[in-house]
Amino acid sequence: MGIKRIAVEEAFVTEEIAQEWKKVLASKFVEPGFQMMGNTILGDDPGARMVHSRLVDTGAGRIQQMDADGIDMAVLSITSPGVQAFDAVTATRLAKDANDALAKAVQAHPTRLAALAAVAPHYPQGAVQELQRAMTLLGMKGFLINSHTMGEYLDDQKFWPIFEAAEALDAPLYLHPREPGPDLVKPFLDYGLYFAGFGFAVETSLHAMRLIMCGLFDEFPKLKIILGHMGEGLPFWLQRIDNRYLLQVKIGAVKKMKRLPSDYFLDNFVITTSGVMSGPALKLSMEVLGAERIMFAADYPYESVTEGVQFMDTVDITDAQRQMIYAGNAEKLFKL
Ligand code: MN
Repeated sequence: MGIKRIAVEEAFVTEEIAQEWKKVLASKFVEPGFQMMGNTILGDDPGARMVHSRLVDTGAGRIQQMDADGIDMAVLSITSPGVQAFDAVTATRLAKDANDALAKAVQAHPTRLAALAAVAPHYPQGAVQELQRAMTLLGMKGFLINSHTMGEYLDDQKFWPIFEAAEALDAPLYLHPREPGPDLVKPFLDYGLYFAGFGFAVETSLHAMRLIMCGLFDEFPKLKIILGHMGEGLPFWLQRIDNRYLLQVKIGAVKKMKRLPSDYFLDNFVITTSGVMSGPALKLSMEVLGAERIMFAADYPYESVTEGVQFMDTVDITDAQRQMIYAGNAEKLFKL
């Protein structure tokens, strides 16, 4: 087709982080959701081993796969739950190491790869320093946090220095899913509901709503948050969220914000297509947000890139819209 394709939610991990996950999984402190995840992604079956070998490869093998899949550029980021499964000290150290490794990989293939930084949110001052280092010295294009950290959400004001730095550095935050937090996970443990098909979206859309409702975007109006998986379902809900928010304001149940919840979503959020290959879902999102707020993502190595590309190549939208979603919007947001 000769169209440029940039995929913006493409996962990697360092061997060291994977080894540290194994230690957490073997300890008695492991969160129940992560325990289920660990059995899925760190298992000893051929599928899990294949995913692992693809995650740790940020070199020739990855580029070869991108060529085969027709991906021109991949924006890489630490896979879920990244360093957020570790204590703050270990997490801060491993985030720095992962960023160094990722920067090196980008340096080797500067026209094919770009990167989002990992940070340890549970040491906010360290996260601020690492974000500054990653954006200014390592040339990263933003950063990624895998939803909750030890059950804590980023609306807590102790995390706000991270947002202050992100706004000042013009660093978009990719709020990526993980399994529901410890206070939320119990009813998700049955039937595999904790996993990517549903529980991840409940956890991450809840996190996004907490950011909206706490007034974060009145404080940092230029902040940009990226949500994967077609906005984790939120575009579908916005009208009803506004409607019931107004009722709650009227009866004094919640504090009135400067603007409606959907206004913040439309101004401060950008979504990606990762893992959603549904024409109706894409069209609803385009109608609610506009094509200029949607970017293509393949979610390698968890999803079939072939299917993602096949979907975006053939879905019934205009070529101008396809170009924006495939490349134009990402080039603008990440300054690629
Ligand atoms: Mn992903």
